[in-house]
Amino acid sequence: MTNTKVKVREVKLYIDGEYVESSNGSTFEVKNPATQEVIAQVHEATKEDVDRACRAARRAFEEGPWRTMSPAERSSKIRRMAEIIIERKEELARLEALDVGKPYPVALEKEIPRAAHNLKFFADFMEQQGGEVYPMGEEYLNYTRYEPVGVAALITPWNLPFMLTTWKLGPCLATGNTAVIKPAEVTPLTVSLLGEIAKEAGIPDGVVNVVQGFGPNSAGEFMTTHPEVDLISFTGETSTGKAIMKNGADSLKKVSFELGGKAANIIFEDANLDKAVPTSIQAAFMNSGQVCLAGSRILVQRSIFSEFVERFKKAASELKVGDPQDTQTNMGPVVSEEHYQKVTSYLGIAEEEDSELVYGGKRPDLPEYLNKGYYLEPTIFIQENPQARICQEEIFGPVVTLIPFDMEEEALEIANSTEYGLNGVIWTDNLQRAHRVSHDVRAGTIWVNCWFVRDLRAPFGGFKKSGIGREGGHHSLEFFSEAKNICIALK
Ligand code: NAD
Repeated sequence: MTNTKVKVREVKLYIDGEYVESSNGSTFEVKNPATQEVIAQVHEATKEDVDRACRAARRAFEEGPWRTMSPAERSSKIRRMAEIIIERKEELARLEALDVGKPYPVALEKEIPRAAHNLKFFADFMEQQGGEVYPMGEEYLNYTRYEPVGVAALITPWNLPFMLTTWKLGPCLATGNTAVIKPAEVTPLTVSLLGEIAKEAGIPDGVVNVVQGFGPNSAGEFMTTHPEVDLISFTGETSTGKAIMKNGADSLKKVSFELGGKAANIIFEDANLDKAVPTSIQAAFMNSGQVCLAGSRILVQRSIFSEFVERFKKAASELKVGDPQDTQTNMGPVVSEEHYQKVTSYLGIAEEEDSELVYGGKRPDLPEYLNKGYYLEPTIFIQENPQARICQEEIFGPVVTLIPFDMEEEALEIANSTEYGLNGVIWTDNLQRAHRVSHDVRAGTIWVNCWFVRDLRAPFGGFKKSGIGREGGHHSLEFFSEAKNICIALK
């Protein structure tokens, strides 16, 4: 057994360069999802605290050197943040594993390095951007500038807390904006450290603020209705995106939303199953299935359906479910009691819908100290009806549905039949089919014969109810800046 006992941390708010307590002293508890032990007491930001954070960010934007500093100087400080993250990666990965319940090696080898890369990439990228010049002959000079927008509210979910926050913070800072960040209430630990990391990197006070709390009638809502906030970059549930859009409408805030998903992972009969099976296992069960890009609907051509089911089931049975701090663990618990109730409610729904349980569906056998953890075995259903709720709704847990199909057209119809359109996955050795199906699946990212491969220059975002806007590369530049046109008479 690895060490799961930790001291109870006090998580404060980071406002204007200082860690402070909530103005009314109120705190809430955070538990380790593997054991239900309390791991943190978190200061809950009041309306007054959020107001202070937003005003500090406004002051730092208007008066501070951040907005007017040269891109080279700004980027060097953001790159320093990335270096500090790498220097502290073991600590950050331990905390992320503790807070979310994800396996420590995944946090250490993938997510924390990616968080550092998010900052470094956007520091480098934005430093190299220029504007455009439109020649108008002898009489006028016409050019553009990309200027920061102002104060950004960055609101993130609990599944990849540190990685997703830095994905927003990198371009936000590198374009000269200031930020008020709010991580999810169940996973505040790593994001709260961004304050001290920014300070050590020489980022001026007020440029990065971190508040803690909940959504409705709490820190999230106070941020998205605050008059000093100019833009909101939000990742989370589709229903929350709708609420945020309504709340931000009065002050006409600019929004970028990365929302839910229910990706189709389509396995054609000519697919290389030696690659498709293990990657589909990753796509279904990585982070206990709590990934917006999860391949949670696996559409398999009927001619290979039985073979795929057998191989997929065997691979799922080989996953080691256990203590997230143990380096041998492949899958931990889900994040919280509330989420566990939601995920396991789909087991009953699947039964009512006459889904066939192929594997899992119960708590795994685990050592006694994990008895209270929010664990569910990797769970596989077969469902012939693509309209069934388990094929349509985002379960966001280790529950995957296999759906057989006969023809390519049918696979496309099923793939496009949900309200989501974040991503899709296609397995085939037929080049023409790969292109054809990629064009016709209505989703923001398509992976062919791979999954979760990212280049940060590429656009990221969703069709339909999976989001609004794109981030990544110049798409982030456009969201986090105002393009200004200047026209000068030369005579
Ligand atoms: P959530 O929407 O419940 O919460 C996300 C964040 O929004 C939290 O910080 C929460 O406190 C805050 N929030 C909630 N209500 C709010 C309100 N009314 N005003 C302002 N803030 C509010 O999402 P979650 O359960 O934390 O995360 C899971 C969801 O996130 C899934 O739907 C998943 O698909 C989605 N997600 C999407 C992407 C993507 O890139 N598209 C990435 C990761 C997760």
